[in-house]
Amino acid sequence: MSKTLFQRICDKEIPAAIVYEDEHIVAFRDIKPMAPTHVLIIPRKPIATLEDATPDDHAVLGHLLIKASAIAKQLSLVEGGYRLVLNNGRDAGQEVPHLHFHLLAGRKLAWPPG
Ligand code: AMP
Repeated sequence: MSKTLFQRICDKEIPAAIVYEDEHIVAFRDIKPMAPTHVLIIPRKPIATLEDATPDDHAVLGHLLIKASAIAKQLSLVEGGYRLVLNNGRDAGQEVPHLHFHLLAGRKLAWPPG
C-alpha cells in the first residue's frame, strides 16, 4: 500500500516544520494555518480513522493526548488555552486519511465550530 502524505512527513520524504517527535508520534506545523498556532499531531502508525484503531492502539492514542499537552506547554499555549480537533470522516472534513489532532491556539476560537 502506498504511504499516506503524513507517513511521508514522518519519514522526512516531505519537509515539514516539526515541533516534536518521538518513536510513536510526530507534531508539525500545518501548511495552511487556521490560527496563529496550528500544529498537527499524528501517530507514526497510519491509522486512517478512529474506527481503524484497535485495542493495540490504546497506548499510542493516550500518548497523543499526553503529548498534546506537553506540546502546548512547550509552545506556551496553556495560559491562553488551545483547542484539539480530530476531523473524523467525510462530514467532519477529514482530508488526509491518517489520524491527526489539530492543535489550534493564539486567537479566540468560535464555538460552535463551522
Ligand atoms: P484534515 O482536513 O483534518 O484531514 O486536515 C488535514 C490538514 O493537513 C489540513 O489542515 C492541511 O492544511 C494539512 N496539510 C496538508 N498537507 C500538509 C503538509 N504537507 N504539511 C503540513 N500540513 C499539511
